[in-house]
Amino acid sequence: MKGIHIQRIESVIVDLPTIRPHHLSMAVMRNQAMVIVRLFCSDGIEGIGEATTIGGLSYGDESPEGMKLTLDTYIAPLLQGKSALSINALMALLESHIKGNNFVKSAIETALLDAQGKRLGVSVATLLGGALTHTLPVLWTLASGDTQKDIEEAHALLKEGRHNTFKLKIGRHEWKTDVRHVSAIKRAVGPDVKVTVDVNQAWTESVAKQGIAMLQEDGIDLIEQPIIKTNFDGLARLTQYFKVPIMADEAAGTVSDAFKLAKIGGGSVFALKISKAGGLTNIQKQAAIAQAAGISLYGGTMLEGTVGTVASAQVFSTLPLGWGTELFGPLLLTEDIVKNRLTYQNGVMEIPQGPGLGIELDMNQLEKFKRK
Ligand SMILES: [Mg+2]
Repeated sequence: MKGIHIQRIESVIVDLPTIRPHHLSMAVMRNQAMVIVRLFCSDGIEGIGEATTIGGLSYGDESPEGMKLTLDTYIAPLLQGKSALSINALMALLESHIKGNNFVKSAIETALLDAQGKRLGVSVATLLGGALTHTLPVLWTLASGDTQKDIEEAHALLKEGRHNTFKLKIGRHEWKTDVRHVSAIKRAVGPDVKVTVDVNQAWTESVAKQGIAMLQEDGIDLIEQPIIKTNFDGLARLTQYFKVPIMADEAAGTVSDAFKLAKIGGGSVFALKISKAGGLTNIQKQAAIAQAAGISLYGGTMLEGTVGTVASAQVFSTLPLGWGTELFGPLLLTEDIVKNRLTYQNGVMEIPQGPGLGIELDMNQLEKFKRK
C-alpha cells in the first residue's frame, strides 16, 4: 500500500436535462450543470466526485465554470504526486492553500474516499465509521411553479408510492400568495402526508412571523430557512417563538456556522449538505455539534446527480437523521452518467453497497453530455 500517489485529476462539466423546470426563490432550473472530478492514483484506482450548484451563481459563490477552473488550475497541481492514502492530510493541505471553495473541496474529498474504499474493498460509509442503515427516506420537492400541477404531481407520486413527504419551494411571490399555494396543496394531500416548506431566505423577519404563523395553523410540519442566512439571531427568535420546527439550511453552511447557531438555538433542525460543509467528514463534525445541542438532522441536497447524491447518502447513512433526506436529485434528471441508476421506492432510496461509492461512470454518457 505504501507509495501510492495521486497521478492526475481531471474535471469535466456535464449538462443534464431535467424532467421539468424547477422553481426556487432564487432561480428556475431548466437543466443541471455538474462538475465531475476523476482522480487517478498510481495503483490504477480511480476515485470520482461531484460538485454541483443550483442556478449558476444564484445559490452560492461557486459556479460550475469557476469550480472547473479552481480544480484544474489550483487543486490538481497541488495534489499531484502526493500520497493518496491519508485523506485527512490531503484535506488539511487543501485547507491551508485554498480558502473557501467548499463545493470543490467536497468533490475532492468524495473522490479520495471513493478511491480509498475501492482500494480497501469497503464502502465510503464503512470508512466513515459504518452505516446505521442501507436505505434513506427521501421526500419530493413540488416546484413546478403552478399550484394545480404540484397537486397533480403529489397525487401521482402518492399513488405510485414513491414518496410520502413533500417539500414546497416558496419565496418567489408575494408572501400571502405563497401561503395560499401551500395551504391549497396541504388541503389536497390531507393531514396524513407530511408537508414542509423551504423559503430559501426570501422573507424578512417580520414577514416570517406572519407567514410562519399561518403555515403553522395549516399544519405544515417544518419551515426551512425563512430569512436571510446571515440573520442568526432572527433564526433563534423564530425557533423560540414557534411550535413548528425551524430548519437552518443556508445559515448552517460550515462547521463553525453550525457551532454559532447551536450556541444560540438558531434552528431546531440542521440541513446538512456535503457541498456547503466542504466535504463528508465536515458533515460528521456538524452532526456532532447538532447532536450535542439537541438539534435534529436532515439530509439536504444541492440537487446533485447520482455521484454527489450517493456521496451524501454514504455519510448520511452513518447518522441518526430525525427528518430523513431530500436526496431526489437524480430523479429530476432524464439522463444519467452512471451505469446503474439508483432505486427509489416506498419513500426510500437504496444506498449502493459496493466498494467506495458503489457506482461506476458510464463513459459513453459522460462523453455525450460533457460540455464541449
Ligand atoms: Mg433549502
